[in-house]
Amino acid sequence: MTELAYLTDPSAAYVRSFRATVTALPPGAIVLDRTFFYPTGGGQPSDRGTLRSPGGDELPIMDVTRSGAAVVHRVRGSASALRAVRIGDELEGTIDWERRHRHMRLHTAQHLLSARIFARSSLRTRRADMEGFEADLDLEGPLPPALIDPLTDDLRAAVADPKPVRVRFVSRAEWDRNPAKGRSGLVPLPAQVDPVRVIEIDATDVCPCGGTHLKTTAEIGAVEIQSARGGERVVLTLKASEAPTPAP
Ligand SMILES: [Zn+2]
Repeated sequence: MTELAYLTDPSAAYVRSFRATVTALPPGAIVLDRTFFYPTGGGQPSDRGTLRSPGGDELPIMDVTRSGAAVVHRVRGSASALRAVRIGDELEGTIDWERRHRHMRLHTAQHLLSARIFARSSLRTRRADMEGFEADLDLEGPLPPALIDPLTDDLRAAVADPKPVRVRFVSRAEWDRNPAKGRSGLVPLPAQVDPVRVIEIDATDVCPCGGTHLKTTAEIGAVEIQSARGGERVVLTLKASEAPTPAP
């Protein structure tokens, strides 16, 4: 089993390097007792980075996935470097921060945008996918084109007048009583999820989510939104050149 150390609290998503112990060595991959590398899931792509062996070899991470209760870090490296890694070794993980922070900006912006779309049109988000500098939000119906400008203003307002983003764990029973449950999103929460990890954007949104998020909406920075597929998709794009400096 791998402890998902990035889940714990808002600061955990900002950890860029950590040490952890090797618990299994599937072919071409490494399983650790805990990890801050995000494995693909919930529309958010996996992290990249490196694992450094006790002998000083840097093993670049190609992919990170969940396999039952374990997180599998698929690595590239010379056969001898891989062979030198043993179960019980302590490795140093370093996360590709530029990529991770981009995903955090996209993911928090997506929650905010889904909430504002719901507030302005009662349309919920069926699914959201992030890749590169873009998040695609597929809605349950077509968004009226006249809402693109007001929604852009909503995102700008959340950057100019930032709102805190909180991580809370609540019991499934408590979550099921929450009147905001499923308000802006339609992704079903599997029956066995308990407790529920809730991402809360102050006074705007509460959403169950296992992703990595910003501490404040200020860090979303400059974004653009466009309508696609007859309004049933909203495409949110980060303006890379105007990315804000991440909080330490
Ligand atoms: Zn999410």
